[in-house]
Amino acid sequence: MGATHGGTDYVAKPGQDVVAVHDATVTRIGNAYKGDSRLQIINMKTPNGYTVGELYVSPSSGVKAGTKVTAGQVIGTAQDVRVRTGPAVTPHVHVQIHLGGERVNPQTLIPVP
Ligand SMILES: [Zn+2]
Repeated sequence: MGATHGGTDYVAKPGQDVVAVHDATVTRIGNAYKGDSRLQIINMKTPNGYTVGELYVSPSSGVKAGTKVTAGQVIGTAQDVRVRTGPAVTPHVHVQIHLGGERVNPQTLIPVP
């Protein structure tokens, strides 16, 4: 866990509500891991050009490509990452943010509870 693997992990119980970290438009919902439909990613683009990915999230109904979301809006529920990583891992939502192809530490944008 931490910011060394391309993002930041936020502890989340499976089924817990997950919110958008920024005002954004959903660009794509897909599999967090290619060929494995158990875990999903919600990709978003913010008005100021940041690319945001929230991983291990089941999107709420109505959240799909083109949906505009606002910071703090519930966009889905946390999935159980342990289906892939094994029981030793703490369930979490992984957030990754890029600007112009460069990785941005989400903690610089998102207050960590
Ligand atoms: Zn992670």
